[in-house]
Amino acid sequence: QPEVFNENRYEQMHYHRCGNSGLQLSAISLGAHETYGSYRDEAAARSCLYRAFDLGITHFDLANNYGRPPGAAEQLIGKILKAMPRDELLVSSKAGYRMWEGPYGEGLTKKSLVASLDQSLRRLQLDYVDIFYAHRPDPHTPLEETLVALDQLVRQGKVLYIGVSNFSGAQLEQAIQVAQHMHLTRILIHQQRYNIFERRCEQDLFEHTRSNGVGVIAFSPLSKGLLSDKYLGEELPAESRATHVWGKKSLENVASTEKREKVRRLNTIARQRGQTLPQMAIAWSLHHPAVNSVLIGASRIEQIEENVAALEQLDFSSDEIQAINHITDH
Ligand code: NDP
Repeated sequence: QPEVFNENRYEQMHYHRCGNSGLQLSAISLGAHETYGSYRDEAAARSCLYRAFDLGITHFDLANNYGRPPGAAEQLIGKILKAMPRDELLVSSKAGYRMWEGPYGEGLTKKSLVASLDQSLRRLQLDYVDIFYAHRPDPHTPLEETLVALDQLVRQGKVLYIGVSNFSGAQLEQAIQVAQHMHLTRILIHQQRYNIFERRCEQDLFEHTRSNGVGVIAFSPLSKGLLSDKYLGEELPAESRATHVWGKKSLENVASTEKREKVRRLNTIARQRGQTLPQMAIAWSLHHPAVNSVLIGASRIEQIEENVAALEQLDFSSDEIQAINHITDH
């Protein structure tokens, strides 16, 4: 049964073109990793996806191995997507990490990629995914084989665009050259971790995405929830990913005292800007000109609402940037 969605859903969200392509991504995208099909059940996932879409989020990110057991996230999201307008959505999946037994259950060979995508499409109950990623580099498979396999999936209509994730700048550069040389489908997007604490791609990646017109979607803008006030109390909060998934016994295992002190200081800067820390963290990741979308996770609709409201204050003064850099030793 199709759901009725907010008719003003495209009014607040920002949309950015992905690299030098024409494809627009919502500035905020929502991913299922560790949450949906894992510690959040179908009702929670459904309410999050519906609310996200009502707020203008059009891009939902998955991978073959998300959920518990692996694959559960795609299965669950597939059910939810049935009531949503497919042509208004960008759904992604990935393959590369271990997914099934034996020598073909991981990596970037043609054998693994073709089989994994077919499994993902069945779980998602979709005819095609919008973006299909090589989830990580595979040093044992020639890039030619991987890119030919991805190109074939595009030609078969099972995938519209291709992306890579967790590739270094040099690996991306090489993949782009191979695709060009062999006249294969070009790489649309790179998916990489990027947040106030984790900035390696500023050195290693962004110059390569920029010079090649490849888009960037930045994942874990909250460093999996650390960039919030959630872990600042004396105890691990009962309702948190740390308690449900990581199985960590103490706050110290989730983040050192020193890290939590940094979070406290960042929290003060966020408040001075009139934002919560998650909002500032999202605005910060979006602030880099290389970044086209930030890929959040959320276990509740209130988090999605709070996080989307980050768009109300995206600018940073140079004093704020300096103060943040000072706290994180950058
Ligand atoms: P985030 O850094 O956004 O962390 C999300 C978690 O932070 C939530 O599940 C929630 O945890 C907490 N949170 C979110 N909003 C708030 C808020 N307003 N206040 C307090 N806590 C909040 O991103 P993820 O690490 O979840 O990654 C997002 C997506 O990126 C994934 O779903 C996946 O699609 C992609 N990804 C890709 C990877 C890759 O290798 N390509 C690797 C990792 C992620 P809690 O339940 O504790 O409340």
